[in-house]
Amino acid sequence: MGKTAYLFDQIFLQHEPGFGHPERPERLMAIHTALSESNIWKDLVVIKPKKADISAIETNHSKKYIEEVRLTAESGGGYMDMDTGLSAKSFEAALFAAGAGISACDAIMQGKAQNGFCAVRPPGHHAEYDYASGFCLFNNIAIAARHLISKYGCERIAIFDWDVHHGNGTQHSFEEDDSVFYLSTHQMPLFPGTGSEREIGRGKGKGFTLNVPMDPGTGEEQYLKEFRKKIVPAIDSYKPDFILISSGFDAHKNDPLASLKLESRTFYTLACEMAELAGKHCGGKMLAFLEGGYNLTALEESVMHMMKAFVEASGGSL
Ligand SMILES: [Zn+2]
Repeated sequence: MGKTAYLFDQIFLQHEPGFGHPERPERLMAIHTALSESNIWKDLVVIKPKKADISAIETNHSKKYIEEVRLTAESGGGYMDMDTGLSAKSFEAALFAAGAGISACDAIMQGKAQNGFCAVRPPGHHAEYDYASGFCLFNNIAIAARHLISKYGCERIAIFDWDVHHGNGTQHSFEEDDSVFYLSTHQMPLFPGTGSEREIGRGKGKGFTLNVPMDPGTGEEQYLKEFRKKIVPAIDSYKPDFILISSGFDAHKNDPLASLKLESRTFYTLACEMAELAGKHCGGKMLAFLEGGYNLTALEESVMHMMKAFVEASGGSL
């Protein structure tokens, strides 16, 4: 019996950012269908996400901004910015997306699972303290990190963001904080434009932000070389007590929004190597959040590869 948690809720399908929008409910339907029909399913600890309290969202966002999101959704929907649209259920979905992270952290900290995946929408890593950005409303992974710190006293959380876009929101949340080390690989140049190698954190957080930008066209071999040269040793010497992953799958070669050239299997390799670090430093405690990934076939395949690695790492029967 494996101990990989899986969190999903139908409410995530009711966040509709607008006709023709790439961040669409079908993404999550593809993932959920593929997983539930696979031989991995029996090895998953399926957990129903709880809805996050507003106070949990306030650990990472301003009251004024949270209220703006609520009112926009409750008025039937609208746009928070040019790219970030809301439907009537988007606020509710966003509370459950953040809540899924909290529920998953609780399950892992209480030993009900060793690692896990939050299959959630809306995504989170671009969301800033007081504004929405890049399809993201509330920063799910940052809220989970705040929860691990306040409820469980975690002191060294590594957040690795392998989404093809830089997680500006997450980086900014912990820029002056040494209890969270934000590490990111991303295509450069690309939205949102942040994430240069010169951004290394500030004050107490100096040295606890690591950006590894990649040129458009970078393929698996070069990507893994950089990952092993920079990301792995940095996490290894940080000795994290919990590993969080912003797992976007838009660095895949078939993704329509970017031009890195990773294969579906690359996500198996990445997940295995992250699991190895988690095994070495924090009893395997590791949690991934869905961020981007916009080609449905590539997304579904890549998630299956990641989940296979998670299940194997947590002692599954595969
Ligand atoms: Zn992305």
